Parts: sequence; C-alpha cells; structure tokens
Amino acid sequence: MNVIDERLQPILNTVLHRNAGEPEFHQAAREVLESLGRVVTKHAEYSEDALIERICEPERQIIFRVPWIDDQNQVRINRGFRVQFNSALGPYKGGIRFHPSVNVGIIKFLGFEQTFKNALTGMPIGGGKGGSDFDPKGRSDREIMRFCQSFMVELHRHIGEYVDVPAGDIGVGAREIGYMFGMYKRLNNRYEAGVLTGKGLSYGGSRARKEATGFGTVYFVRSMLARHGTDFDGKRCVISGSGNVAIYAMEKVRAFGGKVVACSDSGGYIVDEAGIDLDLVKRIKEVERGRICDYTALRGSGCHYIEGGSIWDVPCDVALPCATQNELSEADAKTLVENGVMAVAEGANMPCTPTAVQLFREAKVLFAPGKAANAGGVATSALEMQQNASRDSWSFQKTEERLAEIMHGIHEACDETADEYGVPGDYVTGANIAGFIRVAEAMRALGVI
Ligand code: NDP
Repeated sequence: MNVIDERLQPILNTVLHRNAGEPEFHQAAREVLESLGRVVTKHAEYSEDALIERICEPERQIIFRVPWIDDQNQVRINRGFRVQFNSALGPYKGGIRFHPSVNVGIIKFLGFEQTFKNALTGMPIGGGKGGSDFDPKGRSDREIMRFCQSFMVELHRHIGEYVDVPAGDIGVGAREIGYMFGMYKRLNNRYEAGVLTGKGLSYGGSRARKEATGFGTVYFVRSMLARHGTDFDGKRCVISGSGNVAIYAMEKVRAFGGKVVACSDSGGYIVDEAGIDLDLVKRIKEVERGRICDYTALRGSGCHYIEGGSIWDVPCDVALPCATQNELSEADAKTLVENGVMAVAEGANMPCTPTAVQLFREAKVLFAPGKAANAGGVATSALEMQQNASRDSWSFQKTEERLAEIMHGIHEACDETADEYGVPGDYVTGANIAGFIRVAEAMRALGVI
C-alpha cells in the first residue's frame, strides 16, 4: 500500500476528524495526499501558508430542503446539496447527481476529485458538485419536472455563469437539465445560457457533450495503448453501466475496432459474445428508460443475462468501469488480472477501490484514474460555455476534434509528470500531481483567501 508522507499525515488526520462519517471523501483525499509527498520534497513552497490544508477544505457547502408533490398529491421531502470546492481556476464546475445514495460525503468526494480533473483539462474552471437523494427511478415525467423545479428554486441563488456552473451526472441528463434551466430562466428573468451545461441542442447545448465523457475515456485509453505500442483493434472490452458514460464509451470502442462483450445496470449484466448491440441498448436505456435484463428477450439468441454477480468475471483485454464509485473490488481486480486484462480506465468517478487499484499497479496493468480518463465530459462542458459566451454553435466534428486534442493533452500531462517525479507509467500519481500543481499555482498567486 502507498504510504502518506509524514509531513502530510496531519493534514489527512484533520480531514478525517473534520469530515467524520464520510468514507468516500476520506478515500479521495488519502489517494491525492499519497501522491503529494514527492511534490513537497521537490517544491517546499507548496507546504507554505497551509496551502494543502486549504485545498482539502471546500470553500462552501450548501444543504437545503427540496419539497415537491408526487402524482398522488403527497408532499415529499428530499435533501439537496451543492459543494463549491475550489474556485482558484474559474467558476465552480461539476455535475448534479440524483440518486438515493447521495449524501454530503459523496458530493464532497466528487467535488474534490472534480477540482483536480478540471485543472487537468487546462481550462479555466474550478471544482464543485451537487445533487440530491431523490430517486428518479419509476417517477413520471411530471414528477421529475416538479422535483427539478423545486431543486432549482433554492439552487438558483447560489449559481451563475461566473459563479458556479452545474451539469449532469448519475440520474441527471438533458431532460433534467432542461427543467432546471427553464426554472432558472424564469426566476432570474434572463437567458443566461452559460449557467448550466449538458443542455439540449435546441436551447444552447453543445454538440458532442452527450457523447463526451464516454468518447473521452476511450480517447484516453487509445493514447495509453499507443504509448505502449498497441491499439483497440480486435480487443475484447467489458464496460460496466449502461448510462450516459457507458453507452458512448461502447460506441467509441466499436469505432476504434474493439468489441464490447458485456455491459450492466444495477440489476445485473449481459454478455453478448457477438458484440453488444448498441442500438438496442440505446433503445432500452435512452428511449424506454428500461432495465438491461430486457436486452436478452429483444436480442434473441446468443446472449445471456446474469442477475447480480460481477461483470468483472467476464474475461477481457480492456475493462472500463463506467457505473459508480467502488463498483470494482480487490476480488474483481484479481479476477481481471488472472484473466489477462491489459488496461483499465475509470469512466466513472472512483469506481475502483484503493486495493483494486493497488493490485492493478502491482500487476503492471495500464491503469487510468477517473480524474484523467473521464475529464472529457467536463472539458466539453467548458466548450459549451465557450460557445454560449460567443453565441456560437460548433459542428459535431469541430467539437469532437477539440475533445480528442484535450484528452491527448491530459494523457501527455499525466505521463510526463509521472516521468518527472520518478514513477514512469504511474498515471494515478501523474494525474494527481499535474492537477494539484495547476490549482496550487493559482492559489499561491491569489493570496490567502
Ligand atoms: P447514468 O445515470 O447515465 O448511468 C449510470 C449507470 O450506472 C446506470 O446504468 C446505472 O444502472 C449503473 N449503476 C449505478 N449504480 C450501479 C451499481 N451499484 N452497480 C452497477 N451499475 C450501477 O450516469 P452517468 O453515465 O452519467 O455516470 C456514470 C459515472 O460516470 C458516475 O460515476 C459519474 O459520476 C461519472 N461521470 C459522469 C460524467 C457525465 O458526463 N455524465 C462525467 C464524468 C464522470 P441503474 O439504471 O440500474 O441505476
């Protein structure tokens, strides 16, 4: 296991004490601090003025009540969150998650990760994250709309195109962003397109934003494979989830000549040795908002569904966890390594447990951490803000070309930083240090605020 430098241990102790009962945030902070020992040895200035302590403390945390009325006329109450983590590089930027598991610790971990991820893109955006413990599953369209409107009635006073720019995440796609944007516009009486990203194309969205996180992850893996003398051609891939990130990761893997043989949702996974029929997955998930188990009946023969279980039992060359945090355990990592996995990239945020990551690193599996591999979504959100600010609308091709360049740039930054700090091929340390230095440099320039 990596150890924390003794100069940084007191900072972690404060994080653990101050954020009791928030294991996901502890895990994310520990992972970054583990990488920073090398930085403070080389650059003592980053230990001054409690810079690292300040980076570990969110600038602002907002928790609010979200009352709404369901289709049976019952009043329901959920809890809303927005953690504005760091604005040294630009307005807070990060998605909104609607899922029953959401709590302040999960939003804090996501906001912390987002700060470094956004820095890695090289774009002028700070880090934040938000959400609610609202469960959209089984809710009617009207219920979703009323919930989103009530959520925005409170959130609108905390956001703005120069303040904080939310986007989608688990449970929040273009439909929810549309309802939230509509309410924001009404409350503020102005068309501030740059206040939310992930918008629909009809009202200021960017082409390729929907595809960006999944595509970006696969672009990152392509750079990583190329660096090691190989490519996607003919590789077997397993991708967990069947939501926004997973679907477009599948599409790009296929475009690069790979074959996706399994995907999942929280109920179980499907295996289709002929290659997953992506149009069918899109129909089930994007149009019918159904379950992945429906795939087998609609597809006919040649595939099977396994309820529960672990998708990581399916042998593959490339594994892309694209569902949720801590979905790939040490036991799963062991199975993947035994089955000869070559590369693993986190399409989701922190989907691999720390011991799983350790195992991949020991086995010399190419491993891309989420803050680098899934940064394509937020990078394209920043491109959406750019288009909104200049009242422009770019073609799909132009936007995707920018995305591909940005992902390649992130790969190079992680790879070169890993070399510079004496850990060649270690993308985790490379990403943490490269992201940290960009945030730290801006914070030093801004004084103690
Ligand atoms: P979606 O809500 O579109 O999809 C999430 C998918 O993961 C669903 O298929 C869901 O299944 C599945 N899932 C959720 N929990 C589990 C579980 N415990 N086991 C197995 N499958 C599960 O979300 P996104 O695709 O947008 O987000 C996925 C991940 O990517 C998250 O970690 C998110 O933070 C991260 N991310 C997303 C970005 C984006 O642009 N959307 C940007 C960067 C990161 P079910 O329908 O059954 O719940």
